[in-house]
Amino acid sequence: MKAKILAIAAQKGGVGKTTTAVNLAVAFSKFWGKNTLLIDLDGQGHVGPCLASYLLDGETKPLSDCLLSQKGDCLEIAMPTRIKGLYVTPSDKGLSHAEAILATKIGREFSLKHALKRACEYYDCIVIDCPPNLGNLTLCGLVAADACLVPCQLEPLSIGGISDILAVLGTIEDRLGHRCELVGILPVRVDKRNQRLTSAMLEKLHRVYQEKVLPVHIPVNSALAKAQMLGLSVFDYEPLSVGAKAYQELARLVLEKLKTLL
Ligand code: ADP
Ligand code: MG
Repeated sequence: MKAKILAIAAQKGGVGKTTTAVNLAVAFSKFWGKNTLLIDLDGQGHVGPCLASYLLDGETKPLSDCLLSQKGDCLEIAMPTRIKGLYVTPSDKGLSHAEAILATKIGREFSLKHALKRACEYYDCIVIDCPPNLGNLTLCGLVAADACLVPCQLEPLSIGGISDILAVLGTIEDRLGHRCELVGILPVRVDKRNQRLTSAMLEKLHRVYQEKVLPVHIPVNSALAKAQMLGLSVFDYEPLSVGAKAYQELARLVLEKLKTLL
């Protein structure tokens, strides 16, 4: 068995990367019984607070140590949670510092890939929550990943940023010989109340990216934000909310796509 590794990446902050990474990882383990590791590759450490009610006491080494050491192994730092089958790496404020040190290392792009070698044999799925830029850590995430999901808010600047990340995927393939498949572009925080702008932006997204745009959309839904504030999964907080249903549907679609793409 080899884990399928999915990176959630976008150049901007606040577009729903962490929300998507957390809800997908929870859905994979909760609804599909997948042994899942959620990697928090962002120094802001938002994954921990989002899942606070499920975290168990205990200390482990930070992810940055894994990335900087030749023998770093994510399997050793993964923490179990109260959600069966879900494991997370701890929040790590040292990641931004690690990013600066990585910049000076040969083969830095492969640090996470190496650190996941053993974890790949143990988990079914590994979800990587990338930081809000296209720096060294995101690069490590994409090089470690088999596939990538790009959340996009329906705003002109977010849509503009997609081409940058697609260009990075191309460069990774050309220069580093690693193919990270695009699972798709995920329209997030879709606001039905703002119908005219929403349809215009969706139309533009489809015109430019066509079948790369996923058929599942994540609506604006306060249950998603409120659940995070309480450190609960939206599937426990408000399982019938439109946000919970959309992420459950997304998880099904992503698993299906991973099966056909990989
Ligand atoms: P990123 O990881 O890209 O910086 P987050 O996932 O942390 O973005 O989302 C930023 C903020 O927006 C968070 O406070 C989150 O609760 C909120 N949020 C994300 N997605 C939604 C949504 N679909 N509906 C309402 N609020 C959302
Ligand atoms: Mg985030």
